[in-house]
Amino acid sequence: MNKQGMATRALWAGEKDSLAFGATQVPVVHSVSFGYDDMDEWYDVAVGNKTGHIYGRNTNPTVQAFEEKIRILEDAEAATSFSTGMAAISNTLGTLLFPGDRIVSIKDTYGGTNKIFTEFLPKQNVEVELCETGDHEAIEREVAKGCKVLYLESPTNPTVKLTNIERMAKAGKEVGAIVIVDNTFATPINQKPLELGADLVVHSATKFLGGHADALGGAVCGRKELVDAIYHYREINGATLDPMAAYLLIRGMKTLKLRVDKQCENAIQIARYLQTVNVVESVFYPGLEDHPGHDIAKKQMENFGGMLSFSVKGGVDTVRHLLPKLKFANRAANLGSVETVVGPSRTTSHVECTPEERAAMGIPEGLIRYSAGIEDIDDLIMDLEQAFQSLPEHVFSK
Ligand SMILES: *Cc1c(COP(=O)(O)O)cnc(C)c1O
Repeated sequence: MNKQGMATRALWAGEKDSLAFGATQVPVVHSVSFGYDDMDEWYDVAVGNKTGHIYGRNTNPTVQAFEEKIRILEDAEAATSFSTGMAAISNTLGTLLFPGDRIVSIKDTYGGTNKIFTEFLPKQNVEVELCETGDHEAIEREVAKGCKVLYLESPTNPTVKLTNIERMAKAGKEVGAIVIVDNTFATPINQKPLELGADLVVHSATKFLGGHADALGGAVCGRKELVDAIYHYREINGATLDPMAAYLLIRGMKTLKLRVDKQCENAIQIARYLQTVNVVESVFYPGLEDHPGHDIAKKQMENFGGMLSFSVKGGVDTVRHLLPKLKFANRAANLGSVETVVGPSRTTSHVECTPEERAAMGIPEGLIRYSAGIEDIDDLIMDLEQAFQSLPEHVFSK
């Protein structure tokens, strides 16, 4: 293997063909169309006999550099891009699923993905079976009944549950299913689903890949014939990544390895600190030895990721007092940013559920999602400490 390390790839991969004028950084090409004086050359590019660009909804040099970078980071044969992570997911499912098809997935997928499964696919006469997240036997049983797609996410929102990708990919292969893994939480720094047997990897580039919460984007990576079909669906349906967003994502991705390593380092220390706090009921982080997915994480991930969650005594009342006290955390819906981001699950990942539905999914009302940033760990822990100390006792002792 003469492949470069992930830090080197994050910096250099995929840019060469998009550099012009001797620029050392990928230019943002805003032009919507690409002109040709030679009618034969125009024709050759248009029918794909020659490389080049025709129209911005199809391809663009800046967007192409983003696609190449994520392709090389995921060790994939091919990659294509989208305006958002949800566009990557919906266009992929739209390409693969037809009336009468069946898809098997898990209950804890990202909220938007879950809505596709529960609201939109059934209307198109696609049968959806959602298994208990982490119940490998249940998933295997449902997959064995036959399905067109097995869709997984690992780790998941909000209690960071793990699924053994290699084992599930094997089960999918046996019935000829296309196995898709949402790798947004892990990033290719920590997990390579294609190496574990998946056919396609999907990403919300908005999160860790971009890393600065200033650009929306999505990507799909995998076997060329599958990615080509998904690209074709996207070029016609139009959920194209904007060149300016592609540029911001490329710039963010240059530091992906540094950022994710630091976020993992901070997350484990935050998790261990939270375990010592009296107001904290439970801490969910796959790096903790008592987490149910710890052994799977050790096997299929390089590190345990920057996402964790914890529940507090006193439920929503405690959350309402605690979160506004934090100085070094955005209270917001995104994650994977350089700054720490916190939010209650009832407002972020599972806002569309009733309290009863959340309880049934094992999501306490006092659950807080914590996306560790790259701040100095002492500042993050001191910040949490002062926020916990400021809680009036009557709030959490009810
Ligand atoms: C945010 C997110 C998505 C959706 O991505 P957008 O860019 O917001 O459309 C999909 N999957 C996971 C795991 C996410 O966190």
